[in-house]
Amino acid sequence: MDDKYEKSIVWIRRDLRLLDSHALFRAKERSKNIQLLFIFDQVILDKLDDLYEDKRVQFIKSALLEIEKQLDQNIIIKYGKPEDVFEEIIKDEKIDAVFTNRDYEPYAKKRDLKISKLCQKHNVDFHSYKDHVVFEFPEIVKDNKEFYSVFTPYKRKWLSKVDSGESLIPLFQYRLADIKKMVFTPKTKRAKKFLDKLSPSPIPASSKQAEGKLNKFLKIINDYHQNRDFPAINGTSGLSMYIRFGLLSPRRLSLIAYQNKSVGSQTWLSELIWREFYFMILDTHPEVATKEFNVKYQDFPWKKDSKLHQAWVEGQTGFPIVDAAMRCLKETGQMHNRLRMVVANFYCRLLLLDWRKGERHFAKYLLDFDLSANVGGWQWSSGSGNDAAPYFRIFNPLSQSKKFDKEAIFIKQWCPELQNMPDKYIHQPSLAPEDIQNDAGCILGKDYPMEIIDYNASRQNSLLFFKKILS
Ligand SMILES: Cc1cc2nc3c(=O)[nH]c(=O)nc-3n(C[C@H](O)[C@H](O)[C@H](O)COP(=O)(O)OP(=O)(O)OC[C@H]3O[C@@H](n4cnc5c(N)ncnc54)[C@H](O)[C@@H]3O)c2cc1C
Repeated sequence: MDDKYEKSIVWIRRDLRLLDSHALFRAKERSKNIQLLFIFDQVILDKLDDLYEDKRVQFIKSALLEIEKQLDQNIIIKYGKPEDVFEEIIKDEKIDAVFTNRDYEPYAKKRDLKISKLCQKHNVDFHSYKDHVVFEFPEIVKDNKEFYSVFTPYKRKWLSKVDSGESLIPLFQYRLADIKKMVFTPKTKRAKKFLDKLSPSPIPASSKQAEGKLNKFLKIINDYHQNRDFPAINGTSGLSMYIRFGLLSPRRLSLIAYQNKSVGSQTWLSELIWREFYFMILDTHPEVATKEFNVKYQDFPWKKDSKLHQAWVEGQTGFPIVDAAMRCLKETGQMHNRLRMVVANFYCRLLLLDWRKGERHFAKYLLDFDLSANVGGWQWSSGSGNDAAPYFRIFNPLSQSKKFDKEAIFIKQWCPELQNMPDKYIHQPSLAPEDIQNDAGCILGKDYPMEIIDYNASRQNSLLFFKKILS
């Protein structure tokens, strides 16, 4: 067709894959030639403490190189400020249109607006599409058109839209071979210096590997509801990093989960819907990134205690389940969902520390860090969110530990100094008598820390504190 664009750019960001991408599908429909562009955005990267050692940045690099392998062709990889990069690309490549998938984070929305205006100035069309979610705002709203602040009715509406056939979960299907034929060789120089400084990702970063992990999970998905809470069991998908960076299509995952009607699969679908719910909250309330959704919590007098904060960060609180989780996070960049809830609840409800600081610590280390889910999880845990746990829901680290890591397998993995502590004391070593500590080769206060707070006293204090402030 003659009205097709001669040359289009598909700007990939958190959708590092070639198949089932809405933007790529549309670009293919409407263009004669396409090229993929990825920008290592200086504005985002400047905020990282250790850019070249950051496993997420290394992961992106490896995922991009995998895409090039699949295409048998270079894509455009740039480092810099997006507006500068686009000025250069529009000049060098003489493009007619930009296609991209929408991002709901506050910074990304401002950035995209700037780029669309810049494109307009240069007579380049800018198109953005829904891709990261099945439904975006305002597709799921109350009958009076307001957004949902509570998850359960939101999820009910989400499911009813698909159940009734009113909205299908679409897949954008095309052949890789067709894309390959359309890709043009870029004239723009790539960010070679920057790429050379980055090591390859230690975590497998291809769609094929992500697909393999998904297939493994699909064999156990029917037991997800029973096994998902136990950190020592391989009961969850472990796909969050692949979903975060779009190596797997979130839409396709939702469709797979939706079509399998088992309880396990439906429970997993719920988690994917939570993900969309938090995107919707961030999209409609960008201020939640730093401000509590619940106004009663704004200006809340969280304590400032750097010693308590540091003990939590280092996994030196004296509560083995908390310490094991925090050490695992620092070492691997991963933490099981149950443990995220335990350590966040411990931080805000027992140490009474500001959720924002905990959230930033997670942001620094989590490989799957996603602003919407992280802020959502932290506001939920601190009680300050839209559909949050009430202030009196304080997790007892001891009972959480006994319930979800009964055999202390996870604890022993991350707190090896407790390896020989008898079962009776492993979940609460502070109770171990001296002779037991000697026999276990683990002296409290020397090999393993004493508890930094008294749970019962802190719980009582927390209840009074929250009740007084919130009344
Ligand atoms: C304090 C706190 C902070 C969190 N921070 C993040 C974060 O930065 N990034 C992130 O992806 N998830 C976050 N979560 C949600 C959840 O812990 C992780 O998504 C999950 O542990 C990832 O493991 P998985 O892939 O095996 O998940 P599965 O149990 O297999 O779930 C499948 C997918 O659903 C999504 N998902 C699952 N649970 C949630 C949830 N509660 N909220 C939103 N999406 C969810 C993820 O994309 C996940 O990969 C946080 C939870 C809490 C309590």
